Amino acid sequence: MSEVNDREYLKDKKRIVIKIGSSSLVHHKTGSLNLVKIEKLVRLITNMSNEGRDVVLVSSGAIAVGVKALGLDSRPNDKAKEQACAAVGQARLMMVYQKLFSEYLKTTAQVLMTKNTMIDMTSRHNARNTFEELLKMHVVPVVNENDTVATDEIEFGDNDTLSAIVAALVGADLLILLSDIDGLYTDDPRTSENAEFISTVEMIDEKILSMGKGAGSRVGKGGMYTKISAARIATDSGADMVIANAADLSVLEDIIEGKEVGTLFKAHKNIDFHLIDYIAENKSIN
Ligand code: GLU
Repeated sequence: MSEVNDREYLKDKKRIVIKIGSSSLVHHKTGSLNLVKIEKLVRLITNMSNEGRDVVLVSSGAIAVGVKALGLDSRPNDKAKEQACAAVGQARLMMVYQKLFSEYLKTTAQVLMTKNTMIDMTSRHNARNTFEELLKMHVVPVVNENDTVATDEIEFGDNDTLSAIVAALVGADLLILLSDIDGLYTDDPRTSENAEFISTVEMIDEKILSMGKGAGSRVGKGGMYTKISAARIATDSGADMVIANAADLSVLEDIIEGKEVGTLFKAHKNIDFHLIDYIAENKSIN
């Protein structure tokens, strides 16, 4: 851990994957989409793309939007019902993204993945080639897990993990996880007064991993533990990762201006890290 503000180099990031969780996309009281927030997200991403950066958005929200659209009180426990929610919600979510991106003259695309997309060599190459083509054409890919067909065996399970895998697949140099927490604390700040904020993580060791246990959010699937697991994938693959609070999305600009916001996990490309083995071995990281 270091206390030095040395984030200037984040200004030069060229290929950025941004993940936003369901809890940051909907109003907590009603479960309906927070359009003001989504509009700002879309505007900022379009601007980053207009600056010449490649941007990939990993967006959760399919199930949450589907639950609302179908008039259900809460996320169903039954797998088929949950998948039906995702089928309805993903289409709605993309409709909103496409509408807003097109208002800023930006073309967007939908990419839905399962674990098999990564494990199967042909699918993985196809997915990588598709991302490359889309980014070459300055399109913003909007990625989600293909929740409609994913089962326990082939699901990533949470979009923190998925976004880190996408970052590794496309060779991103920065992954930003937008969540409902400011970043990593030594303990859960909602229950412990002594919790201290950690600005920079140089290396993910057992101590850092233990800090993630127990802290989770209300609407999405990923807690802090999945975020630290994602950081391991991203940093071992050579990408820096920042966890930041999505409460004010201006944080995205702050991050790429090198301001000290959120928790930065520093990249340290690990030649012994094999992404595909990691995915195959980790059935579910939750
Ligand atoms: N793929 C899920 C959805 O779109 C979200 C998973 C997560 O919250 O990490 O609803």
